[in-house]
Amino acid sequence: MKHYNIPIFVPHLGCPHDCVFCNQVKITGLSTDVTPESAETIIFEHLNTLPENADVEVAFFGGSFTGIPVDVQKSLLETAYKYVLSGEISGIRLSTRPDYISEDILIMLKSYGVTTIELGVQSMSNDVLIANERGHTDTDVINACTLIKKYGFTLGVQMMTGMYRSDVKADINTAKRLIALEPDIVRIYPTIVIENTKLCRLYESGAYTPPTLDDTVDLCAKLYKMFTENGITIIRMGLQSTDLINENAEFIAGPYSSCFGELVLSRIERDKLENMAKMSKDKKLTVYVPPCDISKTVGHKRENIRYIKEKYDIDIEVKSNEFA
Ligand code: SF4
Repeated sequence: MKHYNIPIFVPHLGCPHDCVFCNQVKITGLSTDVTPESAETIIFEHLNTLPENADVEVAFFGGSFTGIPVDVQKSLLETAYKYVLSGEISGIRLSTRPDYISEDILIMLKSYGVTTIELGVQSMSNDVLIANERGHTDTDVINACTLIKKYGFTLGVQMMTGMYRSDVKADINTAKRLIALEPDIVRIYPTIVIENTKLCRLYESGAYTPPTLDDTVDLCAKLYKMFTENGITIIRMGLQSTDLINENAEFIAGPYSSCFGELVLSRIERDKLENMAKMSKDKKLTVYVPPCDISKTVGHKRENIRYIKEKYDIDIEVKSNEFA
């Protein structure tokens, strides 16, 4: 059965935190302008466009759902829960910060049919978390993940690569520590510099240099393998219109590509080709792959084929294995 999310973006109208990569204006508390009425309209309109036998969840995205006032959380959840009770949707998912999770919050979320909670972890290095002014620690992450699993929710975690004062070793260590917490799903976001942020000022002063797109693709290919080899599903690599930044943010610098996830999957295929090339005595290799894997094996603009030719002087031909 095909799965669909009905996304309801719950923007933070101000946030008490001050993450250096975010352009949210800091004020004293979280709030949102999403109302039960607007949520109802979004759910109703989406349900009318989806196939009847689809598996549908309502997804409250926006980063810090459990930080908004409890009465607002409850009124939004009540709206979605009506559709859980009527059988029109199978559950509710939301994203929040590790320090906004407690037993009381989880009991409340459970009572409204929430099935999946995604945590914005970003890093498991306290030095990196402090340098980026995240306002939570690795212990908050461990406690939140443990509680979320104890209460039987599907656990999602989100990590960032290339943060200020982080490096490849720290990012890989973050992945290792997240794997140990046994999440079900992961999102990986490379850090980008957007205007009107502290990170932008650090970038302009020379204190922060974002990793290149190529290095970031390499790193994310490693992370992808680490998570998937441990049975953890990666549901997103690379930035979308996001809960990290305001929608109208101006991109300044960093490893951004609109097809970032495809670049990573293609890099994994390039690594496989490279292993074959290292062992090959022939100057021509024919590689058979499933039809759906041909384009990522060849690479964007035949990048992988060119790379092997330049580095090993081997011509690679990629063919479908369907009739091989
Ligand atoms: S990233 Fe999230 S928690 Fe951090 S300042 Fe922005 S809105 Fe607040």
